[in-house]
Amino acid sequence: MAGIALVTGGTRGIGAAIAKALQADGYQVAAVYHGNATAAAAFSQEYGIRTFKWDVSDEAACRAGVADVEATLGPVSLLVNNAGITRDIMFHKMCWEDWRAVLSTNLDSMFAMTRPVIEGMRERRFGRIINISSINGQKGQMGQVNYSAAKAGVIGFTKALALENAGRGITVNAVCPGYVDTEMVAAVPEDVKAKIISGIPIGRLGAPNEIASAVAWLASPQSSFCTGSVLTVNGGQYIAN
Ligand code: NDP
Repeated sequence: MAGIALVTGGTRGIGAAIAKALQADGYQVAAVYHGNATAAAAFSQEYGIRTFKWDVSDEAACRAGVADVEATLGPVSLLVNNAGITRDIMFHKMCWEDWRAVLSTNLDSMFAMTRPVIEGMRERRFGRIINISSINGQKGQMGQVNYSAAKAGVIGFTKALALENAGRGITVNAVCPGYVDTEMVAAVPEDVKAKIISGIPIGRLGAPNEIASAVAWLASPQSSFCTGSVLTVNGGQYIAN
């Protein structure tokens, strides 16, 4: 068995594809969700993946949740920080709640989820941490000042943590997906989506399993010399614009 993998937001969208790919590679997977219990139950039943419910923006809940996962399954050797949300609105109309919700779920969660696993990884001198950022954290996006700031923060978090832990057998990498066909993107208005697709050289949205395969590689022994990297998986969108 490859070890215990903890995937946040692991019951829907990109996270569900990641959980399935890691399971296929021999990981025992714990998938965290927050509110959609129906989706989580269906996912767990179909794939036999254990699900856990907590809010990744709540530091105490993350500490308790990680302790629960480790007591149930064993020490976490792979953490995939995938859970994320958007609250899109132009900055001059953005309220503090829109800002805080996005920053806390997408960026504070990096601290809240990683802090409880890092000491154990350092003691065992092995760990894999993979953080899901976004193309919009790399290039900025209108209507997403909050999200772009949070996802850019994820990249800085990844690089600094990679430096601190490279000598302890722990790799820390980020994946920056472009636009992927999930419920998050389904919320984007059709005319905006058509414009986005016209800017993607490959000419379509990505599929969740096209992000999951990048994560699975970073989780595998084949990526052992890769740390502090930012892997872009976006159909060529970043270089085209
Ligand atoms: P979805 O909206 O499809 O799924 C989000 C998942 O995160 C759900 O499982 C959800 O749980 C969980 N989640 C949300 N908030 C919390 C929370 N506070 N605590 C715990 N779990 C939470 O998102 P995607 O699959 O599209 O996105 C996954 C990641 O990829 C995100 O970080 C996103 O920013 C990033 N990304 C997505 C892109 C895209 O085009 N889709 C592009 C670039 C990056 P529940 O089911 O209970 O609601």
